[in-house]
Amino acid sequence: MIKINENYKKLQASYLFVEISKRVSEFQKKNPDKEIIRMGIGDVTLPLPAVCTSAMHKAVDDLANAKTFKGYGPEQGYDFLREPIAENDFKSLGVSADEIFVSDGAKCDTANIQELFSQDTVIALPDPVYPVYSDTNVMAGRSGNFINGRYENFIYLDSTEKNNFIPDLPSKKPDLIYLCFPNNPTGATAAKDQLKKWVDYAKENKALILFDAAYEAFIRDASLPKSIFEIAGAKEVAVEFRSFSKTAGFTGVRCGFIAISKECKVWDKEGNSHSLHALWNRRHSTKFNGASYPIQKGAAAIYTPEGKKEVKDMIDYYLTNAKVIRESMEKLGYKCTGGDNSPYVWVKTGKPSWDFFDFLLDKTGVVCTPGAGFGACGEGYVRFSAFNSKEKTEAAMAKVAEFVK
Ligand SMILES: *Cc1c(COP(=O)(O)O)cnc(C)c1O
Repeated sequence: MIKINENYKKLQASYLFVEISKRVSEFQKKNPDKEIIRMGIGDVTLPLPAVCTSAMHKAVDDLANAKTFKGYGPEQGYDFLREPIAENDFKSLGVSADEIFVSDGAKCDTANIQELFSQDTVIALPDPVYPVYSDTNVMAGRSGNFINGRYENFIYLDSTEKNNFIPDLPSKKPDLIYLCFPNNPTGATAAKDQLKKWVDYAKENKALILFDAAYEAFIRDASLPKSIFEIAGAKEVAVEFRSFSKTAGFTGVRCGFIAISKECKVWDKEGNSHSLHALWNRRHSTKFNGASYPIQKGAAAIYTPEGKKEVKDMIDYYLTNAKVIRESMEKLGYKCTGGDNSPYVWVKTGKPSWDFFDFLLDKTGVVCTPGAGFGACGEGYVRFSAFNSKEKTEAAMAKVAEFVK
């Protein structure tokens, strides 16, 4: 008899986006002539930078020619991509090309890395949270039961108004700590001294930090760290995840990478140290056969001077939308976080998330994302996303303003 992984029974159904589309289609049926503006989307909308598509076209032509054809590539990624990543993103931070592992995206990487660690690893994760961190550890059997809205074995790092959405160090000791800045869903960014606290804590406790920097391209404030490796000692206790999805519109193209320093140590039960780089290399080359050649060529084009300019313009466009959202909501008296160095604006609604969602949809046709769907600390908040067009963003904010007046 084939038996299932019992841990899957502990997963909570993900109602959030299903429930949103159900409510939106009910609204549409009742109000067929009302326009719906989607401000909840967590996906990019602008087309790929032209440098990327032309590099990808050329790479496809390489595959059509026996002289330039490529079969299996290196599992860790081609040097033509790993080198510009190291050079541009990490040069002054001392991360080299052979410490970069190219992949098909940060979702898979943040999901997969937990399998390197023991079954009894104690997990700390933010609340509200990107659900991948939580669900993959549930699947792996590290969660315990779901009681009163939370898994009993997880340490929740509350991100609330009280701590400016930057979680405090926990009172119980975790082994593995997930952090994400700029944050999805709150849009909060962490300053260097705030990250330093976590790095020092991980060092003292022989813990490991998994730092998700999928939104680093949105950081425009030069005083904010774009990489956790800007913090002294982080290379020994932290791994960084990056993605071209939000940086360059690669959500449907699929490419990202992990940076793992060779200095990063993890431990076996006898207390002997092991190289996390070596462990991940073993896992990655066993289970992954490399991101596709044309995609990696497209990603490498981002690091050319034209590529950098196109990416900057693209992010500027979304950041302008984010500013419009934040300023409009603040003008109406709502407290907001994010939207300055992040594409998300986290709005305090003064009522339960879903009530605000219904109220907004019903009166204006504007769709946001209820914060409660991201965790207990998200109750009372909604997330607005800057990934719609400028025109739609402005139209949505005008409707909200008109109504709230
Ligand atoms: C979008 C997103 C990613 C990127 O995922 P990809 O698989 O690279 O598209 C990673 N982490 C967070 C928090 C995200 O919101």
